[in-house]
Amino acid sequence: MNSLPEPVSETPLDGTEVQDLTAREVSQTLSLRSLQTPGAVPGYQIEQCLGEGSFGSVWLARELRTGKKVAIKFYARGRGVDWSLLSREVEKLAVLYTSRNIVRLLDVAWDHDPPYFVMEYLENGSLAQRLERGRLPIEDAVRIARVMTQALIHAHGSGVLHCDLKPANVLFDAGGDARLCDFGQSRLSSERTPSLGTLFYMAPEQAVLDGVPDARWDVYALGALLYQMLTGSPPGRSPALEAQLQRATTTEDRLATYRRLLLEIPPPQAHREIPGIDRRLIEIVDRCLERDPARRLANAQLVFELLEQRDRARSRRQVVLLALFGPILFLIAMYWMADSATSRIVKTAEENLLQRALAGEVISARILAESVNQEILNRIEELEAEAVHPDVRQYITAATALAEPELVAICSEKAPGQETLVSVVQRLNAVREKSGKRHQDRSWFLTNAQGRQIYRNPVEGGTVGSHFHHRDYFHGQGRDFPESATIGSLMPRKVSGVSAAYQSSATGQFAIAIAVPVWDESHQQVLGVLGRSLHLTDLLNPWEDQLKGEARADQRFLALAQFVEIGEQGRKRLALLDHHWMTAANMAQRTEPPYIDETQASVIQRSETERTDRYHDPIGEFDPNYQGNWLAAWSRVQNTQWIAIVQERRDIALKPIDDLKNVFVRLGSIAIGVFSAMLLAFWLLLRRLSM
Ligand code: ADP
Ligand code: MG
Repeated sequence: MNSLPEPVSETPLDGTEVQDLTAREVSQTLSLRSLQTPGAVPGYQIEQCLGEGSFGSVWLARELRTGKKVAIKFYARGRGVDWSLLSREVEKLAVLYTSRNIVRLLDVAWDHDPPYFVMEYLENGSLAQRLERGRLPIEDAVRIARVMTQALIHAHGSGVLHCDLKPANVLFDAGGDARLCDFGQSRLSSERTPSLGTLFYMAPEQAVLDGVPDARWDVYALGALLYQMLTGSPPGRSPALEAQLQRATTTEDRLATYRRLLLEIPPPQAHREIPGIDRRLIEIVDRCLERDPARRLANAQLVFELLEQRDRARSRRQVVLLALFGPILFLIAMYWMADSATSRIVKTAEENLLQRALAGEVISARILAESVNQEILNRIEELEAEAVHPDVRQYITAATALAEPELVAICSEKAPGQETLVSVVQRLNAVREKSGKRHQDRSWFLTNAQGRQIYRNPVEGGTVGSHFHHRDYFHGQGRDFPESATIGSLMPRKVSGVSAAYQSSATGQFAIAIAVPVWDESHQQVLGVLGRSLHLTDLLNPWEDQLKGEARADQRFLALAQFVEIGEQGRKRLALLDHHWMTAANMAQRTEPPYIDETQASVIQRSETERTDRYHDPIGEFDPNYQGNWLAAWSRVQNTQWIAIVQERRDIALKPIDDLKNVFVRLGSIAIGVFSAMLLAFWLLLRRLSM
């Protein structure tokens, strides 16, 4: 018999502590013996062993009369321990028969050998087994703890203290509900006999050999049970502690060590770290596990009330959360809908506005191109009116023979002996005074048939008397020739017109000359050329102001461009001749016009659309003010090679949409603000009402 192996499933520390070594020996002997079938029991068919305990064994049996499964706990007979133990347990179970949360007593056989009692069979294993697979989800742990609390309330209310609550003594019935079992260590509240529980579930004050049973022992064990369900191991349990306990030789020694260590180590903390755990549950565990019984929750009823309070708080929290997040979700949905609707509206409006703006630019470009043309024609007409005057012909004939100083004197209206010529100069000056100044011409001038300048206003030393036969305004061939061209090889123009633009050496800006031929009386021969020079900027100025409207002058303006041939290969590039930025100050250092990039130039050249909403101003390269997208429309200026470009900053054109967007944003913010304030007020009210 001694050769039978000891049960290995439990280390000695997991067992219920027994009063002394003699009793321990007895129990060991008994448990070894009980591994064998306990023999026939009248009315029952024994089937298998369910578990081993300190003073006996529990067997699964079938009640022959009904076929019902039951559990039978045998108390092995020997040295008289059995009777008192059996009666102790049966007595309590009989009292607690009505509780749903405690295992039910069915029958008892005092006079059988060994004596036993029959109870209902709980088929779903113990909490200890469940915990071997790891800790429980918070709400499962709380549910089991609540059932155990109710079981304890019932027991305590009936005057029974369990004294050995632990996972191995919590079994699950067929419905999966927890039941409190094993009243082997229980005491009546009136009893003063000590009772030992199990290490790590025992309150410190229970772990003495002469403790007087107290309801707070069960409260501590309940706390330990809950703590273990939450964290996976009972409070204070650690390998170091176990090693120390194992070294103790007597029960008394072990208990003393347990007590000392439990009071030494800091209160258990692991339950605080569990994800999702709430403040109230932590507090319940803490208050059950108080080492000082005076500070511990005094009874199971108080634990139950705290669990109930926690429950109410949680369902209230759900209502509050729903009340809070419901409207917030609604708000987000509304915001999303409003946002997508607004951006659709804005996009359509933007598109429409762009088209309208561009249509406007096209009309402006056409009108301006035509105005420039008219202006040029007017100026030509004014010149032609003078060119047919007989005085002018005579002046050319007479002045051609004169040397430079004399010519300068005549142009300065002070040449004694040359009164006739001076009077012609005076008249021309007067005409220029009347019309030319109004038009902001830079100069008026007259050349003879060889291109020699014989009149200029204002007078300028170095030009009067010099030859300009190579200039386009003189010969009208569309471009300037080198100065070295032979005098007489280039014939004066026969048609009125505008010269090619040239970069003024004084300002760096582009200028042109408008020139008309002066014919002899019989209209056979050209005697000379009468001309006027002006800066393109001055030509365009009168329209700039009308054009900019409410925008700034650098946000909507008119520019002039012209295709020019560059270099030997005669590559054609679109040069800017005038632009808001091309002031004398900005152009002084430049010897070349800015060029519009080739892609845009070819779009402009094809000119099917006359407009674009993605124009890139070449000036952006020199001045960041002009970077970004522009709306542009263009139109050719008749009688010239020019292209008039009306350009407007895209963001300025779209400003009304921007304003609209701002209105939407403002209204939206106000709506959200008001709604949030209402929500907050509603939420605070709800909180107050549900507190
Ligand atoms: P002990 O006082 O010796 O610890 P228990 O009453 O706790 O005795 O029973 C020991 C083991 O027997 C339990 O841990 C459990 O596994 C099993 N057991 C006890 N009662 C029942 C029952 N009613 N139904 C099923 N198994 C039981
Ligand atoms: Mg037990």
